[in-house]
Amino acid sequence: MDVIISVDIGGTQLRVAVYPTQGIKPIRQKRIPTRGKDPAHVRLINLISELKLANENVLAISAAAPGPTDPKLGLVLNAPNIPGWENLPLAKILRDQFKVPVYLGNDANLAALGEWRFGAARGHHDLVYLTISTGIGGGVIIDDRLLLGTRGLAAELGHVTVDPEGPVCGCGHRGHIEAFSSGTAIARYTAAQIMLGRASSLSAIPQPSAHDISTAAETGDALAIEAMERAGRYMGIAIANYLHIFNPSIVVLGGGVSRSGGLFFNPLYQSLKENVFAPGYLNDQIVTIAALGDDVGLLGALALAITHLNLS
Ligand SMILES: [Zn+2]
Repeated sequence: MDVIISVDIGGTQLRVAVYPTQGIKPIRQKRIPTRGKDPAHVRLINLISELKLANENVLAISAAAPGPTDPKLGLVLNAPNIPGWENLPLAKILRDQFKVPVYLGNDANLAALGEWRFGAARGHHDLVYLTISTGIGGGVIIDDRLLLGTRGLAAELGHVTVDPEGPVCGCGHRGHIEAFSSGTAIARYTAAQIMLGRASSLSAIPQPSAHDISTAAETGDALAIEAMERAGRYMGIAIANYLHIFNPSIVVLGGGVSRSGGLFFNPLYQSLKENVFAPGYLNDQIVTIAALGDDVGLLGALALAITHLNLS
């Protein structure tokens, strides 16, 4: 039986799943903590070995890695939260070990590919994908092809500047959209307002998370509503920029913040309308929530392998 092995590498978990060449239901899968006694790449090799059965023919191993990767050279350039993963030749390491083709991509790019092949953007040829979580990642597909750029470093949609005077981003630069609309940014803004003496039901919670803030906003907490609106409003500005550059037929939003409902989406739509420079960008424009949930990394890696292997 022909199979594809998908790998989703996260800062806290390593996940491996064995898929048939048709369908998105794994034959078997397992997850382990990323950190342990051995280095993460050794733990990954052991996990793949454990799940790979001798009577199966592995067509490829395909991996989604966090942070910037060079998919052409098969390098993980820098994986935040994984010690020692700098310029790591992961594709070569896995190829030498398992003697099969190995494909590698940035997790947000592969999430875009997964949503395009299996999820919310099926049937679309041009899409912008964003994951709005602790950070903001992105991926772009144009004419049914993932946009990679010269070194595979496209498309870091979370690090576009929406206000050069704005707060400092997780990357260290100022005013990126991630510094306004990520879960971390929502939490930081709210905490700063509470420090300034703003009244809020959240002041009873030590270090409220974006999820706490979204919940408080639903119950009518004025500061929480303001924090969600601010995040949505800036996100609308960023998405207007993406529409101007890529003119996709669909924008897919994944990650925890995207599940906050109208408190985030209504100001996002309003600001999107105000910030596109011609109404044509919004004709039949779909902005929707991702469909693949927590398996998006594995399914994105599967989609990458299927694309490379020309399986459909
Ligand atoms: Zn940034």
